[in-house]
Amino acid sequence: MSMISTEDLYQVYLANPIISTDTRNITNGCIFFALKGDLFNANQFAQHAIEKGASYAIIDEEQYVSEKCILVKDVLSTLQDLARHHRKQLQIPVIGLTGSNGKTTSKELINAVLAERFKTFATFGNLNNHIGVPLSILAITPSVEIAVIEMGANHQKEIELLCTIAQPTHGIITNVGMAHLDGFGGFEGVKKGKAELYAYLKATNGYTFINRNNPNLLEMSAAAGLHKLVYYGTENGNTIKGSLRSSDPYIEVDWTNHDESSSVKTQLTGSYNFENILAAICIGDFFDMTPMEINTGLAQYEPKNNRSQLTETASNKVICDFYNANPSSMAAALNNIAVLSADKKTAILGDMFELGPESAEQHEIIAKQAAASGLDKIILIGKYFFAYKDQLKGVFFETPAEAADYLQKNSIKNNLVLLKGSRGMKLENLLQYL
Ligand code: ATP
Ligand code: MG
Repeated sequence: MSMISTEDLYQVYLANPIISTDTRNITNGCIFFALKGDLFNANQFAQHAIEKGASYAIIDEEQYVSEKCILVKDVLSTLQDLARHHRKQLQIPVIGLTGSNGKTTSKELINAVLAERFKTFATFGNLNNHIGVPLSILAITPSVEIAVIEMGANHQKEIELLCTIAQPTHGIITNVGMAHLDGFGGFEGVKKGKAELYAYLKATNGYTFINRNNPNLLEMSAAAGLHKLVYYGTENGNTIKGSLRSSDPYIEVDWTNHDESSSVKTQLTGSYNFENILAAICIGDFFDMTPMEINTGLAQYEPKNNRSQLTETASNKVICDFYNANPSSMAAALNNIAVLSADKKTAILGDMFELGPESAEQHEIIAKQAAASGLDKIILIGKYFFAYKDQLKGVFFETPAEAADYLQKNSIKNNLVLLKGSRGMKLENLLQYL
């Protein structure tokens, strides 16, 4: 039933290159794509989008057709096809980035580095799924010289699909860990799903940046038969060799390329960011940037996204890491607070979601790690952690609201506090009590 070819729609896009999928953010002259979700059908809002200034609305239900509507078979696949077509016209390197942890942070760091030399585009925020990736691609303007595209997944074949849209010429898997175990079918499933990026790079003869300290990634790259590899890590023989000079509280890295050594002090906390930083160095170096440019980009990057962000409140220093959590990033965050200097330390941890049958066991492992971390206080929130209230050390609450009540009555002062949980736990609501 598609009434318009991708090429014809592309001409419409070139004349109206702003895309919107949300009637709350219509800009004059944009194209509105009426997507469907579990709880909404934006076909119903197409007319409203046009009244608010959209030039066209792309819809897939005939009953909503009116002037300025373009009827297609399926709005989502039309959006994806348009993005694929646009990507093909762009003769630029695209760095595709996936992994269980550190995608957004690495993406921001890579972008901060590359922007010292190039006109860059990087995925906004966390727009990394089957809708976000096409929107990201369609936001790349002709003057952009390099793009960094974050690709997220919680099930098989998703990265494969995103690769057909972003068509990365270069790629990186930050790591593979205990994330989205439910959708991927356990840890082996995570590896398989993320390796779809390697398979795409192999098939298209792209370059892969790889952390040689990570045996899982080495195994996956060997299995994919990759040979255009650029390595970073802590040992000799890597294109970029780095060492962690300090992580208390900010990450400082010494690093060397083929012929020059230098150091950089970043504004990130958390030793797990060491590998994210090395990845950004490796990519900057690959694109012939000088150590000075690379270090300048890294040093000026200030996290403002509640990931690895150290904040001073009136009473405490808080590691704001509440954007999300899974067993791997929880373990990394607990290892990190354990080595930071502070008179008193508290961990406030919220439940980790999307772990399927492994939920109970993974919460027990993290609660035990917290108990053994030498912290002065541990507050565990959510029904998964709550199940261990009689067995393990800590103050337990079933809901964040109960924890908020407790914090108001038992204020924490002069502590270094780690605040971390899954997105759905919304632990940012507790920051006001710290
Ligand atoms: P999402 O799946 O939500 O897009 P992401 O992969 O983009 O997540 P970030 O948002 O960069 O990851 O980081 C989320 C959290 O993961 C950080 O706040 C930190 O706790 C942890 N993290 C970041 N980098 C690493 C890493 N290299 N290894 C382990 N944990 C990490
Ligand atoms: Mg992300």
